[in-house]
Formats: sequence, C-alpha cells, structure tokens
Amino acid sequence: MTRWSHSKKQVRDALDEADAAGFDVEDTSGHGHSWGYIQCTVDKQRMQVWSTPKSADNHAKQIRRFISRHSHPKQEGEPDEQL
Ligand SMILES: [Zn+2]
Repeated sequence: MTRWSHSKKQVRDALDEADAAGFDVEDTSGHGHSWGYIQCTVDKQRMQVWSTPKSADNHAKQIRRFISRHSHPKQEGEPDEQL
C-alpha cells in the first residue's frame, strides 16, 4: 500500500523506498510540473520529483541514485558537517 498520489507506479515505488530509508518525502503537487521533493534529513539536500517525467523508469532510477548517495553513515556525537 502506498500513500503517494504520484501517477507513475515506478516513481511511487521509488518514493516508498525513500520514505522507508528515512527521507522526507513532500507532496507539493499543484505547482506546475513539480510533484514535490525528497529531502535528505542529514544535509537537507533536496531532489525535485516531477509529476510527468519523460521516462518514469529513468526518474525512478534518479530517485534511487539520490537515496544511495545520501545513505549517510550514522554519526555519533559528531556535529553535522555544515556546507
Ligand atoms: Zn544527504
């Protein structure tokens, strides 16, 4: 079961994975071609999610790449790196 309203199943599945991995997934749809975004909770970087990607498969891959790039190891007692 998914709670995302995204029209592409491949993208919904990727959003589920992002959510399960601890990312913030925000549905801000209603603003043009943007569906919303995924945000890394560690460094607050965001990736835009499109509501009508040219290729849902490619967009799902981009989302998964973002997830793996932001699979930060847990830091204990260290302040977050400020960029
Ligand atoms: Zn990150």
